[in-house]
Amino acid sequence: MVTRADIGVIGGSGFYSLLDDAEEIELATPYGPPSDVVTVGRIGSRSVAFIPRHGRDHRFPPHRIPYRANLWALRSLGVRQVLAPSAVGSLRADYGPGTMVIPDQLVDRTSGRVQTYYDTGGAVHVSFADPYCPSGRATAADTARATDWHTADAGTLVVIEGPRFSTRAESQWFAANGWSIVGMTGFPEAILARELALCYTSLCLVTDLDAGVEAGQGVTHDEVLEFFAQNVTRMRSLVSATVQALPEERTCPCGSALDGLKLPFDLP
Ligand SMILES: [Zn+2]
Repeated sequence: MVTRADIGVIGGSGFYSLLDDAEEIELATPYGPPSDVVTVGRIGSRSVAFIPRHGRDHRFPPHRIPYRANLWALRSLGVRQVLAPSAVGSLRADYGPGTMVIPDQLVDRTSGRVQTYYDTGGAVHVSFADPYCPSGRATAADTARATDWHTADAGTLVVIEGPRFSTRAESQWFAANGWSIVGMTGFPEAILARELALCYTSLCLVTDLDAGVEAGQGVTHDEVLEFFAQNVTRMRSLVSATVQALPEERTCPCGSALDGLKLPFDLP
């Protein structure tokens, strides 16, 4: 029997222990191998495929992650809904460390990353006005609130190129625009999911205040890692509960993202 999964999780390596009856699958894609072998298992009654975004040994920095291979691999396993937990910096003093932000908007400040599957064989323009799955967002926000997270059920995620953090001026500029949080991996992950008609939901854990918000010298890598490590168990529980609360049948618009568009190849 071919291994299949309904729900995909792309996150830190702390999520391995989520899966029961786990099986490791080595997958090839037209875009090369994904970040690592894909682990497929169960969470409750749901079948789940997990990819450690940076690789098991954290070998891929944000700008080197094989984003296209990761989403393609998930879709080829049958995945249609993707949860994407990540660590972010906050642009708002009221979203302090420990806040769970479920963004509804995204600003792309990356550069030089391949952000489409459709770069040969004719243009394919997908709608990206609302980059996230409305039903995935509602499920994640309800679950976070029910498990006592300080939850923001909307917000704008600015995705920067990295690997450096923002300057104080950049951070102040983002905040002045009313944007909420800053990360390095949310794009092109979100658009590639949309280009494959997948539901995509970001679960953003605030680990620090960004440079423009903080009075001190700005964020350090060690601070981020330490805070994330302290929260990994809690984050794992949230992802697990969200997976089990996701709808079995999709009624959101994500699955129709490619309707009426002429694709240069068949999707897996
Ligand atoms: Zn959806």
